[in-house]
This record gives sequence, C-alpha cells and structure tokens, in this order.
Amino acid sequence: MKKEKWLFQTSNMPYDPDTVKNGLRMKKKLYSGSSIYQKIEVYDTLPFGKILVLDGIFQTSEKEEFIYHEMLSHPALFYCANPKKVLIIGGGDGGVLEEVLKHPVEKVWLVEIDKKVIEVAKKYLPSISKGAFEDKRVELVIGDGVKFIKNYKNFFDVIILDLSDPWGPARKVISLKFYQGVKGALKKNGTISVQGGCLFSQLKLASLVFHRLKRVFSSVIIHKAPVLLYDIGELNFTVASDVNLKKITFKQIERKFKKLNLDLRYYRPKIHFASAVLPKYLMRELKIK
Ligand code: SAM
Repeated sequence: MKKEKWLFQTSNMPYDPDTVKNGLRMKKKLYSGSSIYQKIEVYDTLPFGKILVLDGIFQTSEKEEFIYHEMLSHPALFYCANPKKVLIIGGGDGGVLEEVLKHPVEKVWLVEIDKKVIEVAKKYLPSISKGAFEDKRVELVIGDGVKFIKNYKNFFDVIILDLSDPWGPARKVISLKFYQGVKGALKKNGTISVQGGCLFSQLKLASLVFHRLKRVFSSVIIHKAPVLLYDIGELNFTVASDVNLKKITFKQIERKFKKLNLDLRYYRPKIHFASAVLPKYLMRELKIK
C-alpha cells in the first residue's frame, strides 16, 4: 500500500509560542529552490491544491486564497472614499494585486523584495494572479518596502501590507517606526490594511499590531475571516486610518459595492460589518476596550 505523504508547516514564530502544527495530505512537491532571502517551495496537496511555502510557512493556496486576498484588500478599499493610488508591500503571489485592480484605481505599485517569489508564483500558481502583473496600471518594484516608503509623503490613498510573518525579510515590518513611515506616505484620509496574525495561536502578535497601529492612527478596526490554510482560528486583517472608520455606514459601503458591481466570492457589505464584530473574550485577550 502506497505510504501517505504529509506536509507539516514548520515555524518558530516570534512573539507567540509554537503550539499548533497543521499537516496537509500531499500529492507532490512541484518546486523547491532558494533566493538570497528565503526558501521557496510549491506543493500539490489534496485539501488545498497547489500551495506556496516560504521558509517552511504556508503562504497561499489555489483553493481558498480568495478569502485572504479579498479580506486584506476590499475592507480598506471600501473604507477609502475614492482610491486612485494604491501601494502593496509584499504580495509576490499577485493575489492582492488582482483584487485591487477590480477597483477603478489609476495606478498600483507592488513592492516585493524577492523577485523569485513572483516568478515561481506566476509559473506554478497562475490562478492566483490571473494575469494581474500584466495590467498597464501596475508598477512592479523589486525592493524592500521599508526603504521604498521613505521616498513618499502624503501620496497613496490605500497601502496594503501583504507580508510574510515578522521574521526573515519581514522582521522590521511591524515596528512602530515602519508604521509611522507608512502613515507619512499615506494621504490624510487614506487607509492601510495589515495581515495581523491568527486570532488563536498568534494573539500576542495580533495585539501588538493593533496597539502599535493605535499609537499611529486614530481609527483602527480588526476584521476577521477563516484562512483555513494557515491555522486554527480566524486570521485578523487590521485596517487603520485617521478617518473615523466607525462612522462609515452600511448604506455608504452598500451603495459603493452596488455601483462597482465587483465579482467577489467572500467579501460583501454584510461581511464587511460582520467581520468587524469581535467577541468579548477576544477583546479581552487583545486588550481592546
Ligand atoms: N499571505 C502571506 C502571509 O500572510 O504570510 C503573505 C504572502 S506574500 C507571498 C509575502 C511576501 O512578502 C513574500 O513574497 C516576501 O518576499 C515579501 N516580503 C517580505 N519582507 C518584505 C519587505 N521588507 N519588503 C517587500 N516585500 C517583502
């Protein structure tokens, strides 16, 4: 009888003890290589189809990438009155880029430190970017997002941080200094969206991201959704702005959603608001009043 092959996520995340190790029934390893920044692998798995793995950490899957990419993009884009200039830092798989380009934006900058990730993702997981890198509104920059934002002041309407967990090339991206730099590059009424960790096994990280953003922006809201590839518990997508996000009504979001008539599989106005309702125990765990 053929021996089953299993793929386990190996990690020793900073901030939270490594208590959960999820394994996937594997069909085949499709690619394995390294760049100067990280180990890059692609596997074909039974539950999630093809998945991208960086330094042993599951990044995205063909099967359910739309939940993560829609929830990291659309709440911030719908909170923003009329996003025209959008910056994505990280996001080398192209999933967030594909979602942003569904909006009538003028230009999108994607700043990815590792061009090998883009090459591998385009070759083995084309269903995630769906040709978004070829859109003429896209400016692709291979470089460190931490350095890139220093060149911009009061420029972007929306900034999306689609970064791997804060270690390796991404270790500086949850620093207060970085968030202050991101605010400087953002227009006064702009919004930023951050992947803030898993709301079960990464509560320390999630709380740190929330409270650091709270020190830089006057309005910070956690949206949550199940990203099944990563972990048990929901993932948090934290949106921050100096616009009072809590004042933006269901009617406003619904009117914009109907007008744009986007083809989405997860995000919609009711999800926008339902995903921002945190149960009491989580508010306590995250020390949110
Ligand atoms: N969804 C994934 C997650 O939540 O873990 C993130 C996916 S995306 C592939 C992460 C990307 O961030 C990687 O391609 C990595 O190379 C890129 N990255 C890490 N640090 C970076 C930095 N300082 N500047 C730009 N890109 C960076």
